[in-house]
Amino acid sequence: MLLSIVSWLFHNSVFLFVKTFDLLVFLASIILQVMENSTIEKVQLLIIGSGPAGYTAAVYAARANMKPVLYQGIQPGGQLTITTDVENYPGFPEGIQGPELMINFEKQAQRMGADLRYGLATKVDLSKQPYKVWIDDEKEIETNAIIIATGASAKWLGIESEQRLNGYGVSACAVCDGFFFKGKEVAIVGAGDTAAEEALYLSKLCSTVHMIVRRDEMRASKIMQDRVKNTSNIKIYWNTETEEILGEKTVEAVRVKNNKTGELTTIPVRGFFVAIGHQPNSDIFKDWLKMDEAGYIETIPGTAKTNVEGVFAAGDVQDKIYRQAVTAAGSGCMAALDAERYLSEKGFH
Ligand code: NDP
Repeated sequence: MLLSIVSWLFHNSVFLFVKTFDLLVFLASIILQVMENSTIEKVQLLIIGSGPAGYTAAVYAARANMKPVLYQGIQPGGQLTITTDVENYPGFPEGIQGPELMINFEKQAQRMGADLRYGLATKVDLSKQPYKVWIDDEKEIETNAIIIATGASAKWLGIESEQRLNGYGVSACAVCDGFFFKGKEVAIVGAGDTAAEEALYLSKLCSTVHMIVRRDEMRASKIMQDRVKNTSNIKIYWNTETEEILGEKTVEAVRVKNNKTGELTTIPVRGFFVAIGHQPNSDIFKDWLKMDEAGYIETIPGTAKTNVEGVFAAGDVQDKIYRQAVTAAGSGCMAALDAERYLSEKGFH
């Protein structure tokens, strides 16, 4: 009798223990789920990027009551924040400084009620609605629509000395770093509008600007080319490529090669500026969105729609042809209008 009572007690206490344990595991999983969900923020429309495209999209989206959340990325304001005079943005007959123009864009988006935040989108999952976006590898956002306006970044030549001396005389931004070479000789490589603009900027600060052009003509607009050619302290090296940037700790000279004659020349310079164009900032989307071989996101012509519904692209990240502030702003407007239509049709807005 005693034995059966002990056995009964033993079995039931084991049973109770197992059940209590199961219950605790179950409760813990619920708590974890709740905690996880509370760190996931749900937003209706997420805008990634803060150049003319992103801010214009934010202005339109906020005015349409889509409550856009915009993450500004590494360089709030985008490429125009490292430029000087902008003479071709309509509405400013006297021209405007790039950084000032972008502050105006930002203020306007803010005044309309857009939620502007610091942070970089580092990962996305566009496999199904709601789409997921991670900010700074930590914060998770769930959203019904995304406008990608991540722009493009400066390209580099890809030579070892360029990397080694980056920040020690090598730069991709004359406006940011030109001041350090006041009264000194510098070189700039490139022949587009950016190179022309930066060469002109540097010519006002530096004693001589050696401009290294790989072909026998420049890609820059005629007016910019004329300005460069008519500036006495800009010396152009046609058909010339950079072989090496020389210097142990800082830039001391650049060795260039004439690609027609093979002649090598060493030019003593303290600064070396790279202005050879840009590449689209589209890496995190490459598993989901159609892109061309250079990484520009493809949009359906006449729209900002990508191949994933509810995901739109605007500005330089999808435009390798025009790449102007005004065209970026225009495409930002298109993206917001497309997003508004999409959210309404799907009943999200
Ligand atoms: P671009 O692509 O127009 O020009 C890049 C230049 O760099 C070209 O001359 C190219 O040479 C040269 N280049 C590329 N790779 C190398 C290399 N490895 N070695 C040497 N040279 C190289 O870029 P930008 O940044 O100049 O301009 C981009 C866009 O922005 C353009 O549409 C431009 O008009 C616009 N813009 C407008 C401004 C304004 O209106 N104020 C200011 C700045 C830019 P190649 O010609 O031989 O290919």
